[in-house]
Amino acid sequence: MPLVALDLDGTLVDQASAARRWSNDFVQAWGLPAGEVDTVAEALTARRPKGEVFGALVERLGVPAAADEIWLDHRSKMPSFVAVSDDDRRALIDLKEAGWTIGIVTNGMADNQEGKIRPTGLDALVDGWVVSDTVGVRKPHPAIFESLATRLGCTLEGWMIGDSLELDVAGGAAVGLRTAWIGDGSDPAGFRPDLVVDSVAAAASHIIDVGAHA
Ligand SMILES: [Mg+2]
Repeated sequence: MPLVALDLDGTLVDQASAARRWSNDFVQAWGLPAGEVDTVAEALTARRPKGEVFGALVERLGVPAAADEIWLDHRSKMPSFVAVSDDDRRALIDLKEAGWTIGIVTNGMADNQEGKIRPTGLDALVDGWVVSDTVGVRKPHPAIFESLATRLGCTLEGWMIGDSLELDVAGGAAVGLRTAWIGDGSDPAGFRPDLVVDSVAAAASHIIDVGAHA
C-alpha cells in the first residue's frame, strides 16, 4: 500500500493555539506580566529542542523553578489542549478507505507526542507513527522516514504532508515522497512542494483524486 506520511504539530494538531493556552496558564500561575504570554507562546513554537526552550524561558523570565519541572508540566498538560479538526479526521478515514497506509512522523519526545496522538483519537485513525526521541534521529534526516516505512511495512512511495518546508517538504522529497505543504501564505521559494494547501483535509482530497500512481 502506498504511504501518506503526516507531520503532527501544526499539521494534524493545532499546536499554536494549544501553546497559547498553556502559555496563558503558565504566565498566570507564576504571576508574570500578561504581555509575556506572547513571549512564551512564541518560544514554544520555535523549532529547537524543547530542553533548550524551557532553560532559556526560566532564565529570561526569572521563574523560581527548574526548567525540567516546567517542561514536564508542559508535556503533561499539552495533550489536553490540542485538537484535530473534524474535516482532518474525516480525511484520514477517507484516505484509509481509498487504500493508503497512513503514518505520523514527528520530532519530539515520545511522552509528549503520544500524549497528543492517543487522546485525540489519532492512534485509531493511522497505522502507526515514529517519534524522533524514540528512534534517535530527527526530521529531515532520511532515517526517520525509513523507520516509519519499516514500522508500517510499506515502501517510501507516496506523500508527505506537513507545515515545515525544511523538515517535512525537504525531508519528504529527499526520500522520494511527493510533498504537500500546509502553507502559511508565504512563498515556499526553493523548496517546491508538489502541493500547497491549507489543511490535511485539502491535501487528502487531492491525493485521493489523483490516485496512487498519478
Ligand atoms: Mg509541524
